[in-house]
Amino acid sequence: MTYKIYLSPPHMSGREMKYIQEAFDSNWIAPVGPNIDAFEEELCRYTGSKYALAVSSGTAALHLALLALGVQKGDIVLCQSLTFVATANPIMYVGATPVFIDSERITWNMCPNALEESLRHYIRIGKRPKAVIVVHLYGMPAMLDEILYLCNQNEIPLIEDAAEALGSEYRGRKVGTFGDIGIISFNGNKIITTSGGGAMLSNNAGYMKKARFLATQAREPTEHYEHCEVGYNYRMSNVCAGIGRGQLEVIDERVAQRQANFNFYGSALSDISGIRFQTGPDHRFSNRWLTALTIEDRQIDPTGIQNALLGQGIESRPVWKPMHCQPIYKTLPRFGGSVAESLFTRGVCLPSGSNLNNDETKLISQIVGTCF
Ligand SMILES: *Cc1c(COP(=O)(O)O)cnc(C)c1O
Repeated sequence: MTYKIYLSPPHMSGREMKYIQEAFDSNWIAPVGPNIDAFEEELCRYTGSKYALAVSSGTAALHLALLALGVQKGDIVLCQSLTFVATANPIMYVGATPVFIDSERITWNMCPNALEESLRHYIRIGKRPKAVIVVHLYGMPAMLDEILYLCNQNEIPLIEDAAEALGSEYRGRKVGTFGDIGIISFNGNKIITTSGGGAMLSNNAGYMKKARFLATQAREPTEHYEHCEVGYNYRMSNVCAGIGRGQLEVIDERVAQRQANFNFYGSALSDISGIRFQTGPDHRFSNRWLTALTIEDRQIDPTGIQNALLGQGIESRPVWKPMHCQPIYKTLPRFGGSVAESLFTRGVCLPSGSNLNNDETKLISQIVGTCF
């Protein structure tokens, strides 16, 4: 399917080619090289993380995060239910069991009350969870104070899935740097891209060393090739890291452009009481990767809005289908109510690319408006 307007297409800055050319000129066409080292350093500078590891995808970064924390077969990992499936799948890769936690209505992310209930339950039965994975959905920072408090109190490590949230801040600090480990994605649809890629962030040297080792085939520091553990081939290519460097130079502009989209939709649709946008109260700064909203007017079907947009060649998307509703995961334990499900059934994500122009956001707002 080709669209006239895409949901979140790549947006090149023009600066990527310089770094790609350098990779070609120096013949570093490999998963090592100067662009990777520089990209990791630049990610640390931008996010404030002490360490960064550039890898082949956000999913790989999550897998490495779980391995670095020592999550194993039979362990329990508490995971936000309302998310893309890549948040949960790595829990299965390591043979652990995901337990899904409902969302709260404000930021749409992990509900601290449901998290607390699940922690109480598992600690009571003597099965302390090995990690918690919180997501900053569509760029919106989760209830980090409350979640960090619960994790610290129970001595359970926190992984932040900030795949969609590069540039978002909580209390003036970049998300992805609050948990023991954070991950970001540079997939083609994310706020900046390396065509495909991801990164793991941490202030913990031990976790970082372990992840770097496992991402490079668990090769022991010997001249001959010696291996004591099963490793992975998860490093980012030096060519892709060059794309990332050219993209990271314009991240502030990209965040501002996505926020401008959100602000435009917000004011253009402000008269419609049946629409509620994902909100970011108190100390939150969302990169507004996607402008997400729910249709509160029960007479209006969200798929009708999507179809109206589709009729004009405009791509939109439902809110993620919660993991506890997915055929592969629906038999697993879950905590909380039905907030994630109602966000899914009532939600729509509007086109949010940083390359949208005013005519396009105006047209999209008009089409949405006429549905009411
Ligand atoms: C995109 C995404 C991922 C996975 O990132 P990839 O780079 O595509 O592997 C993980 N979690 C969330 C919430 C995402 O949106």
